[in-house]
Amino acid sequence: MNSFDVTVIGAGPGGYVAAIRCAQLGLKTAIIEKSNLGGTCLNVGCIPSKALLDSSEHYHNAVHNFKAHGIDIEAPKVNFEQMIQRKREVVETNVKGIEYLMGKNKIQVFNGLGSFKDATHIIVTKEDGSTEEIETKNTIIATGSYSSELPFAKTDKERIITSTEALELKEIPKHLIVIGGGVIGLELGSVYLRLGSEVTVVEFMDRIIPGMDNALSRELTKVLKKQGMKFHTSTKVTEVTNNGNGVTVKAEDKKGEEQSFEGDYVLVAVGRSPYTDGLGLENAGIETDERGRIKTNEQLQTNVANVYAIGDVVAGAMLAHKAEEEGVLVAEQLAGQKPHINYNLIPGVVYTWPEVAGVGQTEEQLKEAGVKYKVGSFPFRALGRARASMDLDGFAKILADESTDEILGIHIIGARAADLIAEAVVAMEYRASAEDISRMSHAHPTFAEAIKEAALDATGKRALHS
Ligand code: NAD
Repeated sequence: MNSFDVTVIGAGPGGYVAAIRCAQLGLKTAIIEKSNLGGTCLNVGCIPSKALLDSSEHYHNAVHNFKAHGIDIEAPKVNFEQMIQRKREVVETNVKGIEYLMGKNKIQVFNGLGSFKDATHIIVTKEDGSTEEIETKNTIIATGSYSSELPFAKTDKERIITSTEALELKEIPKHLIVIGGGVIGLELGSVYLRLGSEVTVVEFMDRIIPGMDNALSRELTKVLKKQGMKFHTSTKVTEVTNNGNGVTVKAEDKKGEEQSFEGDYVLVAVGRSPYTDGLGLENAGIETDERGRIKTNEQLQTNVANVYAIGDVVAGAMLAHKAEEEGVLVAEQLAGQKPHINYNLIPGVVYTWPEVAGVGQTEEQLKEAGVKYKVGSFPFRALGRARASMDLDGFAKILADESTDEILGIHIIGARAADLIAEAVVAMEYRASAEDISRMSHAHPTFAEAIKEAALDATGKRALHS
């Protein structure tokens, strides 16, 4: 029988990273995957959506911004089939990259559905129905999540779609209705808005990206409205119907009045749920919580001592980079190390344009906790770099402890915010004060100067360029 020190179930960013780290540490490692390596992130999530976001952004710039840059071109046209094809190639190349990494690290890959027989034996059922049994000392469950559905809006993959289908449409929607103003809704909504669709977002809460700092929500709403996106917040969807050639979405607004939207597609983007189907958790006695997530302790160990769980299938932010950190943590623990994750410093990013990114505490969280804080902020429009590239929207905002000046949160909306947030994470990991950042040289002209200026603003309103 195949016998391993560690078996990872699920080869998304959490699982494959866990497997690589286990192998690096000398553990004999297997990974089981029922679909392509790379999981949701590589195949139907982060990577393909970014490919389409990049393509649609080029198109948007060609239509709206080239002229001002002194580039005259004939009216550009979208070749949607080619756009989707390029996205597929990006995915394929990435998946091949993971296959290469598995080989390089001598990780044995099993293609099939992994299911517990008991706490130390896993059955792999292949597509042709044949099975193979694995004996394993330890298991890491990294099976991820799937798109949540609304009970009255079952996705039919035709007109009522999830992010997976939205990445493979055959045509550009005339009117895309998006249920949920969260990360997926706004990213995929942006793709189609830029390609010419009318996009209407219906959000249950009183603001979009409700988990992020409110100032980011406000600015993003303003900017996306300027781009043409329509928003209905505090609006509860009550009914969704596929009429054959289109969809009708009925909702109740905050005044209790019925709203009706007609579109050709409706994207349901109301969150994701942990994926444990077919895992046979009951055969090993592994417990889940009331939301179906696998229960773990701080070490990500389940109630069964040799079984761990990471990523979207456990509590916490459903983010690839959070899953990766957890994969490394479990691997290092299994090798006898004492790793640690600072969950407060897992950044959140939305890849709209401008991008949105935040780390640490939001202003709302600080208020609720009764922490005394100061705020520094700086608008992108005052940056030379932003003027040069015409990316004037957005700001950087720093929240620092009122008495110690320690940075408690950094929230950015603006060009390249997704990359800029890394400076915030480094600073906060080293428990920097706002003054520390304000005294560090930031290359000029860069977007990163917004962070330094916001830090200057936080430490006695000393911003130099506003
Ligand atoms: P989300 O939690 O980000 O947003 C869901 C939104 O839907 C929320 O704003 C919520 O209030 C709203 N909502 C819920 N029920 C509703 C209803 N009945 N009617 C109207 N609105 C409703 O979830 P998502 O956008 O589906 O993304 C799923 C997960 O994937 C998230 O955890 C997200 O962090 C992750 N993700 C991350 C990225 C990234 O890091 N850039 C990209 C895509 C997805």
